[in-house]
Amino acid sequence: MEQVIIVGGGPCGIAAAIACKQAGFDPLVIEKGSIVQSIYQYPTYLVFHSTSENLEIGNYPFMSVQEKPTRQEALQYYRTVAEREQLRVHTYEKVIAVNRDEKGFKVETKDRFGKSHAYRAQNLIMATGYFDHPNHLGIPGEDLLKVSHFYQEAHPYHQMKVAVIGGKNSAIDAALDLLRVGAEVTVIYRQDQLSPSVKAWVRPVFESMVDKGKIHMLWNTEVTRITAESITVKDKENERTIENDFVLALTGFRPDRAFLENMGVQLDEQHDAPLHDPETMETNVPGLYIAGVIAAGREANAIFIENGRHHGSKIARHMLAK
Ligand code: FAD
Ligand code: NAP
Repeated sequence: MEQVIIVGGGPCGIAAAIACKQAGFDPLVIEKGSIVQSIYQYPTYLVFHSTSENLEIGNYPFMSVQEKPTRQEALQYYRTVAEREQLRVHTYEKVIAVNRDEKGFKVETKDRFGKSHAYRAQNLIMATGYFDHPNHLGIPGEDLLKVSHFYQEAHPYHQMKVAVIGGKNSAIDAALDLLRVGAEVTVIYRQDQLSPSVKAWVRPVFESMVDKGKIHMLWNTEVTRITAESITVKDKENERTIENDFVLALTGFRPDRAFLENMGVQLDEQHDAPLHDPETMETNVPGLYIAGVIAAGREANAIFIENGRHHGSKIARHMLAK
């Protein structure tokens, strides 16, 4: 019987594991990909908006060359911290079912060889993030291979007609990146101006590219259909079809609640967040805790590494008190 199983080895799951260890527990982290898999899937050359200090976990200093670290530096930092703490992390093992009975939790997994495993745990911390669940457009053609909800690098889009859907940081960063490799970029945004959340140091550069006609900007516009060679866009007045090679639908993410709901966790109807005590992060199911962005409600970006990294110490304190 494990004292604590943590599902998800993202920054908040790892931070929770360290907090549990520091409180005297010996947690087991089960991660379906590599450690900090979501950060691995970020755009290759991403520079964080947070300073490295604000991404630190377990009191380990995060030194980066510039004030804001690169994805590469963050991968190295979180790997090193997990190693130094000698955390037990089962990577490439996916949790496929969790059930609760009078003895605690039964966690069923499948590893990368297709082998099944079962564990028992007194306490369970769900830290599965949101990155596997992009917001879908729900339009015909969204499942074509030329459409992606993730952006990695600009190179494949050299001299291609690329439509970027969305008007926040991922969309704006990708549009500027794509321009540098000579892609023909059209940004399609459903609002009439950029979101205030677009970072202050990026906004003027983007606006200048739009003013110079280097980025084609369609405001108040939605994509209604995608085909192999075109997209159909609709604004307040009309609908038209434009030539297109690739679509990057950078529409954000939302945590998947299916696991939690199956375990009996109730959702707050107003905020669509799992019901939990913010002081302990325990849900309405005793012994079942949430850490990181999975605790967010409708506004999924309200929890990020900077604040989600502190959930683990609240959980560890509560488990210790029990
Ligand atoms: P995640 O990092 O998503 O980790 C969840 C883990 O759970 C994943 O590794 C996943 O593989 C694993 N998992 C999921 N399901 C299962 C399962 N069934 N079994 C086993 N494992 C499972 N935040 C900041 O604070 N500062 C920034 O500058 C910043 N920049 C960002 C840039 C981009 C492009 C994006 C997309 C996000 C950024 N964020 C930033 C937000 C940040 O990435 C997330 O808030 C953060 O990843 C949340 O951490 P987490 O541990 O809760 O979830
Ligand atoms: P996001 O902030 O959630 O923005 C999603 C965008 O897609 C919004 O503009 C939204 O429109 C639009 N959208 C959502 N659903 C849509 C739909 N069905 N149809 C059309 N448009 C739709 O997502 P993100 O930009 O990927 O950012 C995710 C997180 O990563 C944020 O926390 C962000 O700060 C972070 N980030 C950090 C960096 C960095 O550190 N360098 C870079 C990029 C992102 P509305 O504006 O109308 O809601």
